[in-house]
Amino acid sequence: MSPVPALNEIAEGIFELRLPIPFEDGLVNVFLFVDGDEVDLLDCGMNSGESLELIHSSLAFLGGKRLRRLVVTHIHPDHYGAAGILAGPDGADLYLHRLEVPLVNPRYVELEHLVLEVLKYLLVNGVPPEEADVLSNSQRALSQVVAPAEPAVQLDGAETLTMGRMELRVEWTPGHSPGHICLYSATSGLLFAGDHMLPELSPNIGLHPQSTPDPLHEYLEGLQRLAAYAPRLILPAHGRPFTDAAGRVEMLAAHHRKRMERVMGILSNGELTGWQVALQLWGPRDQLYEKRLALQEGLAHLQALAVEGKLEKLVTPESVRWRSV
Ligand SMILES: [Zn+2]
Ligand SMILES: [Zn+2]
Repeated sequence: MSPVPALNEIAEGIFELRLPIPFEDGLVNVFLFVDGDEVDLLDCGMNSGESLELIHSSLAFLGGKRLRRLVVTHIHPDHYGAAGILAGPDGADLYLHRLEVPLVNPRYVELEHLVLEVLKYLLVNGVPPEEADVLSNSQRALSQVVAPAEPAVQLDGAETLTMGRMELRVEWTPGHSPGHICLYSATSGLLFAGDHMLPELSPNIGLHPQSTPDPLHEYLEGLQRLAAYAPRLILPAHGRPFTDAAGRVEMLAAHHRKRMERVMGILSNGELTGWQVALQLWGPRDQLYEKRLALQEGLAHLQALAVEGKLEKLVTPESVRWRSV
């Protein structure tokens, strides 16, 4: 057995490593691809001593003398946090989708502008000022577990990358994050799905200042495209590997369809802000971070309905409101 208990071999020369994180189910899965004494890594966990220790002991166990490439699915702290420790001039080459690159500085380095932008976004969407103030500052804590790095390669999607000894196609799957990518090997049928397709959770798809303008439609389109590949095994970043992509995609799509119907029902009573809709959808939440996620997700559903022409979106400098057609 591996002396690193969190390390599981999933195919020849390809290993899943489960790293600790303080949210979701407590673990993020990253993947090591071995090629002789070089190792490539897909996602890298947070910038914490415990997490980095697990990466280094796994590299040592696999005989990896050099970390060659670090490919990151998206810049959320659990996937990108340790990039600045592992990648750079003396470390691995970082590969990142180019729509993730401009998100890094405002989110993790120069936070003031984004904090103000988020505050304005919360206020126009109907969040009471006291709560908006606290919520807009909640991003600050995350920047402490993230060490940013400059990408050596900016991806567009559709590239073929060699990871270990396996060739994988980059699948751009926006929605959860603008430049989220998955990696797919048609020969082995392995799909490395990041946060795009998870076995148990429905990933957060939110409309916010750093999202794309219609993230829910993009997300659902990406799911259908990947399901059409009929991958043999899906390796998610959270939860255990699973096989039935088509079934999972149908469940996720049905979940969002149901949500959109509920949103339509809530708006049959008149004109509301995103915050009012979110409160009716989920009820009052205690956890700050959850409140913000609920608003973002409610807004993604509202936006999708407006794009489909089923709702009207009314904007002024002071407010964004929604009503039935
Ligand atoms: Zn994520
Ligand atoms: Zn994640």
